[in-house]
Parts: sequence; structure tokens; C-alpha cells
Amino acid sequence: MATPVVDHDVCIGCGSCVETCPEVFELRDDKAWVIGHDKCNTCDCEEAANLCPVEAIKFE
Ligand code: SF4
Repeated sequence: MATPVVDHDVCIGCGSCVETCPEVFELRDDKAWVIGHDKCNTCDCEEAANLCPVEAIKFE
């Protein structure tokens, strides 16, 4: 399964991905961190990526 990755050079810490996928992303020091690589089954990670205003979320 593809896992989400946040580009910290691009992330502006808006928190949108954390709202959409709280088990996958966490805000720390104004950046989103992936805390649950395998938790995309609990939410819609693609939607979280699509909602990111700066397209900082990719999948590997
Ligand atoms: S939605 Fe994008 S810009 Fe906002 S916190 Fe998440 S990764 Fe960062």
C-alpha cells in the first residue's frame, strides 16, 4: 500500500490533513508529520492530499 509522505520544505502547517486523517498526520512545530503510515484505512489519505493547499503530501 502507498504510504503518505509530507514535504516539510513545502508544508505550511495549516492542519487540514490532520483534520481529515488524525490517525495518519500530526502537527508538530507547525509541520505535519506522518505518525501512522499504515492508517490510511481509517480515513481518506488521497482526499487529505488533494485538500492540501500547497500539495505537500505525496505517496511512496
Ligand atoms: S494539509 Fe498540507 S500544508 Fe496543511 S498541514 Fe497538511 S501537509 Fe501541511
